[in-house]
Amino acid sequence: MKSPSGIEFNNDCLKVLSHTLLATSPEEGCALLIGSHKQSIGLKQENTLQVHMIWPCCNIWEPNKFNLLESKKNLNSTVQERLSKENRFVIDPREQLHAQRWARKHHLMIIGSAHSHPQGNALPSLVDFKCTISPGAMVIIGKFGEGRAWWIERSQNFHPKELAILAPK
Ligand SMILES: [Zn+2]
Repeated sequence: MKSPSGIEFNNDCLKVLSHTLLATSPEEGCALLIGSHKQSIGLKQENTLQVHMIWPCCNIWEPNKFNLLESKKNLNSTVQERLSKENRFVIDPREQLHAQRWARKHHLMIIGSAHSHPQGNALPSLVDFKCTISPGAMVIIGKFGEGRAWWIERSQNFHPKELAILAPK
């Protein structure tokens, strides 16, 4: 997927997302974003993501299981923080499969993921960046319920690109 210029939330999707993800506070909440990628057709220059629905997921992060994964990626070598679901999240891959199947059936796709930072702001962390496998949108809900959207791509440097949140047309 080519880096889009903005993201649009249908109906009350952003509000629903913010409420859903902060419901598990102080633990991080997570969800998948299901929608479509609107690209230019003919003269109409367009490259935006459209969120049609939110697929809430359980945060399945567990100590011992995912700590190891992180130490392999050298993520917790510099920062000595107490790892828990309050600062980590993992979406169950089986959940992703279900969501993907459902989306395909409805001619939609998973356009990205969302999670909350109940103790922080809506900026992606280095861990968020390093744990990204494929390029995609990442919506983060900060502690005040504010939502910001980012485009995360694996590259040498940590340069998340902020996506404009567009008003639905
Ligand atoms: Zn995060």
